[in-house]
Amino acid sequence: MLPYGRQSITDADVAAVAEVLRGDWLTTGPQVTGFEEDLAGWTGGVPCAVVSNGTAALHTAYAAAGIGPGHEVVTTPMTFVATASTAIAQGATVVFADVEEDTANLDAAAAAAAVTSRTRVITAVDYAGHPAEYDDLRKVADDADALLIADAAHAIGSVYRERPVGSLADLTTFSFFPTKNLTTAEGGAVAAADPARLTAAKRFRGIGMVRERDELREPDEGGWHQEVHTFGLNYRLPDVLCALGRSQLRRLAAFKARRAELTARYNEALAGVPGLRVPVQRAWVDPAWHLYPVRVLDGRRREVYDELRAAGIGVQVNYIPVYWHPVFADLGYRRGMCPNAERFYAEELSLPLFPDLTDADQDRVIDALVTALR
Ligand SMILES: *Cc1c(COP(=O)(O)O)cnc(C)c1O
Repeated sequence: MLPYGRQSITDADVAAVAEVLRGDWLTTGPQVTGFEEDLAGWTGGVPCAVVSNGTAALHTAYAAAGIGPGHEVVTTPMTFVATASTAIAQGATVVFADVEEDTANLDAAAAAAAVTSRTRVITAVDYAGHPAEYDDLRKVADDADALLIADAAHAIGSVYRERPVGSLADLTTFSFFPTKNLTTAEGGAVAAADPARLTAAKRFRGIGMVRERDELREPDEGGWHQEVHTFGLNYRLPDVLCALGRSQLRRLAAFKARRAELTARYNEALAGVPGLRVPVQRAWVDPAWHLYPVRVLDGRRREVYDELRAAGIGVQVNYIPVYWHPVFADLGYRRGMCPNAERFYAEELSLPLFPDLTDADQDRVIDALVTALR
């Protein structure tokens, strides 16, 4: 089965991991800070804290944003469930706002309409790698006296109005799952410009432990002493995987270029095919495309999905609206809340897109899709 996404691993990646395995540190060591510094090269210098996966990155960002019971998080339903579930894990309430009809990114006007006096965070998602409308969302967040979080699990390497993803929100989260724009097997990161929020993120990923002597409540307890001031979890990303991340990051520009090339080839081959809509791109963004999401019209998405799967093409659907998950239905969320997201879900199909996808395999996908639509 040709997958919809997959990693690209070279001998250099393998060598980078093997070298760390033979060294002194397997977990917290020099590769962690090295990877964090390298990542800041992609966030416009905004410092990063690496964590064990993208879900942990979201949980850490919400903790660093200080959200808890009684607070509301406004977000998009057109995302992976973790964007919302990690806010609930912090005790907050999630309020879903609808998406733009074409990009499937959080609609700023819908987000503004969902704001209440309890809103503390607005979380955008750069769906498929296309940055959300950050200038408008920033205004909504400021007016609400809320923080802006970017779930950029799809979008490391993307640029919005000449500014890189990672520099657009108060906190930005990344995922390094194998299908994403770069991989550490499991992994993620939080970018935060505000030093207090970065420190809060680093503490949360490390069980909440405080080691800095000038911050200890009992500084004279002894050289071994460390203290927990706020609760945290073990969300550390090991040195071994940070070495893989640093090696992968050297190819992120090439990954982005190949993803753009494949996207342009799909656009050219599929634009104008009856019964199909190709993804849009705003003039002011430069996406690192993670997905190639087409829209299959006329209620034919399921039939086309089944036919392509039967032809050995691993198409995917991204995503079921988050509040359709039974756990949200059980909390009282009802279908019909976000019609643009629901229509998008009904039509969406992600075609294979990854740097090592060959032109020949892509042509096979295009032929199979066009045939299925006839
Ligand atoms: C992949 C993904 C996550 C979760 O990342 P993991 O590394 O799989 O935990 C969160 N949000 C979005 C939008 C994602 O695509």
